[in-house]
Amino acid sequence: MSAAKLRFDGRVAVVTGAGAGLGREYALLLASRGAKVVVNDLGGSHVGEGASTRAADVVVEEIRKMGGEAVADYNSVIDGAKVIATAIQAFGRVDILINNAGILRDRSIIKTSEQDWNLVHDVHLKGSFKCTQAAFEHMKKQNFGRIIMTSSNSGIYGNFGQANYSAAKMGLVGLANTVAIEGAKNNIYCNVIIPTAASRMTEGILPDMLFNELKPSLIAPVVVYLCHESCEDNGSYIESAAGWATKVHTVRGKGAVLRPALEEPVTLEYVQNVWSKVTDMSEATHLNAIAEASGSLLEVLENLKSND
Ligand code: NAD
Repeated sequence: MSAAKLRFDGRVAVVTGAGAGLGREYALLLASRGAKVVVNDLGGSHVGEGASTRAADVVVEEIRKMGGEAVADYNSVIDGAKVIATAIQAFGRVDILINNAGILRDRSIIKTSEQDWNLVHDVHLKGSFKCTQAAFEHMKKQNFGRIIMTSSNSGIYGNFGQANYSAAKMGLVGLANTVAIEGAKNNIYCNVIIPTAASRMTEGILPDMLFNELKPSLIAPVVVYLCHESCEDNGSYIESAAGWATKVHTVRGKGAVLRPALEEPVTLEYVQNVWSKVTDMSEATHLNAIAEASGSLLEVLENLKSND
């Protein structure tokens, strides 16, 4: 298959947590295709302790050695305005923001401390919010932007010992949904990546055989494509791993009416009687917007009225 090379000349990309793992691969690929890159990384441990300039510096050095342009940023994503300010100071604009920085504080629900909860939420959810808010302002003025949120199958399906992380990762899906809507008219698109990759985060968690096949470099082209001006997806959730990718959707069942007529109450027994219809997903469909959800409620009420 041959196609014109996708380029990012003139574009400025901020990749958070780009000192290692997935973020490093995104930064390297973007830079190799002409983007000027802010390599953000706090350089702490995978549980969010400490800080170091080394992680970001090493990747900036790699990019410069291959002839690309990059600057390091050592701020925590929680200080999103500072992260974006680095892009503006160094390159004068920000076109692409990949919210990727992350930590883990895995504990079962009973053992999760408030600090474990807050730290994971601060880095993943609040950090993505703060960086996005700061970048959005610039993207709106220039009428272009591409934003990525990083979710996880742990959020979509749950995972033992990851209550804090799962909740934050599902929160990012909600954040992306609204950023996609608010940005659309200004050509600012926001999509979600759901990766599975070998990194220090998954070392010892993923089985060895799988770990060796799950190279972060196999996911980078998917994420970087989502950041290209030619990609028209907005509000998509894309799962990717091992050189494979797919779109993921929420679906809604057909449901069931819980009372015989509009003037009738909803009774516990009626709910029990129709429960198998409430939970039947055989005719499930995907809704594209909140208006479709409220629209279908009006339909339910109209049908009940005609039964009265
Ligand atoms: P990683 O630990 O290799 O990389 C994360 C980077 O984020 C690190 O370099 C770290 O220093 C940096 N970081 C942490 N806190 C930061 C902060 N406050 N500010 C700035 N930088 C900070 O992990 P990875 O596997 O490459 O993970 C990247 C993202 O992908 C994370 O959001 C993670 O939750 C998500 N994810 C990874 C997998 C996987 O299988 N690896 C699966 C699902 C989701």
